[in-house]
Amino acid sequence: MPELISRAAALSRIEREGGRPACLMCAVRDRAVGDVHAIFEDDAILVMLPRYVRRWGQIMVLPKSHATSFAEVDPALWARVNELAHRAARVVERVRAPRRVYVASTGSGGGELTQSSMHLHVHVIPLYEPDDKPSSIFSWQDGVWVAAPAEWIALRDDYVRAWSAQGE
Ligand SMILES: [Zn+2]
Repeated sequence: MPELISRAAALSRIEREGGRPACLMCAVRDRAVGDVHAIFEDDAILVMLPRYVRRWGQIMVLPKSHATSFAEVDPALWARVNELAHRAARVVERVRAPRRVYVASTGSGGGELTQSSMHLHVHVIPLYEPDDKPSSIFSWQDGVWVAAPAEWIALRDDYVRAWSAQGE
């Protein structure tokens, strides 16, 4: 079963896995900070399972080019990111049957933080509890979920199957 670990434990694991890269999202893209469970990938965008999540089943849509402000992002690329985030949200609905799904871009500006990369990206987050609120979802204060390698692979495989079905 996926396991809830503390924010401090998660931060120390992240540091062990990849030190403190200048940009965590670029390091993820380059496979420099641990396993990447990709659901979809092309030259411009990576859709994957983030390794530390507030809710099991979370997906991240990552434009590969390093951009830290919306002014830097080509509108066509951002439209494609959102198209894939929509597809990811439909996959999450199909596979995880959550109560709700949040889709949010939380990167940009302000410098690099370990749990909040400046490199623009979009989170697709399933919510299961009736009282889940943005304030608890977008904070690590109550810990983050991690899982064993086989659990990540099983989730990735479920999502890849549903992703393909969405394209039909
Ligand atoms: Zn970057």
